[in-house]
Amino acid sequence: MIGVFGGTFDPIHYGHLRSALEVKEVFGLSKLLLIPSAQPPHRSQPVASAIERLQMLDLASSNQAEFSIDARELERNSPSYMVDTLSSLRQDYPQETLLLLLGSDAFKQLMSWHQWQRIFDFSHVVVMTRPGVVLDTLHDFFKERRCQRITELASTRAGKLYFQQVTPLDISATAIRQMIANHQNPGYLLPDTVLAYIRQHQLYQRH
Ligand code: ATP
Repeated sequence: MIGVFGGTFDPIHYGHLRSALEVKEVFGLSKLLLIPSAQPPHRSQPVASAIERLQMLDLASSNQAEFSIDARELERNSPSYMVDTLSSLRQDYPQETLLLLLGSDAFKQLMSWHQWQRIFDFSHVVVMTRPGVVLDTLHDFFKERRCQRITELASTRAGKLYFQQVTPLDISATAIRQMIANHQNPGYLLPDTVLAYIRQHQLYQRH
């Protein structure tokens, strides 16, 4: 089973890392791919460059053997649609079960994503609970796919929806960027190595 965790990671923080580690352990993932997006279709452009975000991901994940960085969205010259990413991952890993990891705030937006239903043709979706986000009633499409047991996910390669509780960490990249712009210290919200990189490269200093 391979986890697929996309985001702007601008910067990566412990909310991402801790949730990803917990999902990796619960599902026994052999690999977890961190996939930074190039041109997120649904939001403003990242503040840090693609290279800077890649380097921060590298610093944050180098001590976790199962975490690897996949730069395919940065290498594509088109908007970072998750359905395209999953379709190309499916070609690379034809026999593997793929799990797309989404925070609950991202899941709430899922129905506005490009060809969102097709995402389930390529992977399962695991929603990681995030503090402060209340999920509305589920659309019938999701109700039909929701399953309660992890074993149900392991028996197919794609198509199911699962909700996984993770330790609530109310950390966001936006809040970290704002703290830096306000000359506050975001220490302990993200790895020290990433914070040192941000300082060295003078990132996020302006509002
Ligand atoms: P920003 O504040 O810039 O929007 P972010 O902190 O939400 O950034 P993203 O890179 O946009 O981070 O998020 C990538 C993925 O990680 C999304 O699926 C998001 O829901 C999830 N995520 C982000 N922060 C957390 C957190 N604290 N706990 C659980 N999941 C999270």
